[in-house]
Amino acid sequence: MDVSVKENYVKSDSKEIWKKCLSLIKENVPALTYSTWFLPIKPISYTDNILKIEVPNDFFIEWIEEHYNTIINNVVRQILETDGKLHYVLRDEKEANLEAFNILEDKPPKIISLIEEANAIVSNGEPEFESYLIPRFKFDNFIKGEGNQLARAAAIAISENTGETSFNPFFIYGGVGLGKTHLIQAIGNRIKEKDPTKKVVYLSSEQFTIEFIDAIQSGNANEFSSFYKNMDTLIIDDIQFLIGKEKTQDYFFHIFNTLHQAGKQIILSSDKAPKDLKGLNERLVSRFQMGLTADIQAPDFETRIAILKNKAENYGITIPNDILEYMAYNITSNIRELEGSLIKILASASLNSQEIDMKLARKAVSEIATGRQVNISIDYITQIVCNYFEVDENKVREKNRKKEVVLARQVAMFLSKKLTKSSLKTIGLHFGGRDHSTVIHACNGIEQLLSDDSSTKGIVESLRNKIELGVS
Ligand code: ADP
Ligand code: MG
Repeated sequence: MDVSVKENYVKSDSKEIWKKCLSLIKENVPALTYSTWFLPIKPISYTDNILKIEVPNDFFIEWIEEHYNTIINNVVRQILETDGKLHYVLRDEKEANLEAFNILEDKPPKIISLIEEANAIVSNGEPEFESYLIPRFKFDNFIKGEGNQLARAAAIAISENTGETSFNPFFIYGGVGLGKTHLIQAIGNRIKEKDPTKKVVYLSSEQFTIEFIDAIQSGNANEFSSFYKNMDTLIIDDIQFLIGKEKTQDYFFHIFNTLHQAGKQIILSSDKAPKDLKGLNERLVSRFQMGLTADIQAPDFETRIAILKNKAENYGITIPNDILEYMAYNITSNIRELEGSLIKILASASLNSQEIDMKLARKAVSEIATGRQVNISIDYITQIVCNYFEVDENKVREKNRKKEVVLARQVAMFLSKKLTKSSLKTIGLHFGGRDHSTVIHACNGIEQLLSDDSSTKGIVESLRNKIELGVS
């Protein structure tokens, strides 16, 4: 790419620039990769040497940065000027006039830059104020389960009869990635859908604090208060971040009272129940307990399957049940991770034109899940294997040389090596004190069989799935 081409750009022509980037990228990546990861990207704007591009979701950013960072950097360097930069904008957030560059880190983006970005994106007239509602968060894509039953029912009741229920404030709490933000955003979206004139605002308590500090510094604290006192519905996410911020808490307290007395709906989320918010002003804690407090628990197995099915359907893909079960079994405590591993699977499948199989699922789950069940024991493996081969468990631990016992022993050793972190020595000890060379011999023998004999391969694969799924 020569320099004269760069100088020919009309600066605002992001489409033209992105087209040039695409043609370079196309030369450097496989066709399927190109169509999966790069074609869906849309250019938004090009100003101050920053090219903004819109991507469908945060996993795109993660995936592209992980796998194509070098290519992207090269292309940007070639097509834009030397200090040219690429900014990602998420599609959902863009629709809500909101931009986040690094939502993967789960950090609430800074309100100030957000407003600037939002204004830059919305060129056709400024709305009266920004609601910060993300359209993707709806009730109809929020799967009902035992863990979220009360919270969901209350959220629906509030959005249908805002200000008329006794659920004020509505305080929802629970662990990370369980749907708190989804639910409270869904309330906001529903209220606006029913009556677009309703003044609804959503923000995290960190954003609230940043705005407050900014208002104090610019001498606008009163305006700040009256803005929020004027809302019909105030939704504040992750209220725990107000801890330690005394002055912000004071202002919030007054806003809360004004709204509450006027029968305006207040919706709050937190990682803990009000009484456990140590360090939060007592008078706030007691206000939080005036309405309805609902917790949200990790979804049970069936709900996790339903969530996965629903998400896969949204992508237009059917995933075999055993794979869904494998994922739901291994990712138990965070729906964001469940979603993440699903997207990883879809992504790698499309990247490598591969079938969605167990191998792919295993890889995606292990890359994403932090709380997966890894406590598979050698004894458990032995039990499942012996059960299958109908061999007495004690026999594999003795010096029995019968053909079926030897096979069961070797398979159990092989799977112990694959599925546990145990050393060869430890594995040997579990099988009647055999030494590590016996274990190596067994593992090699099975590896050989797996490549020679498809029926053994099928058996070992299905045993492995059983063990990993925890079904005997
Ligand atoms: P939290 O705010 O509790 O950390 P989020 O609301 O951000 O969690 O949820 C994490 C992800 O999981 C979001 O993408 C959300 O849409 C999804 N999610 C959570 N609960 C459900 C559910 N019951 N049904 C469908 N998707 C869900
Ligand atoms: Mg949240």
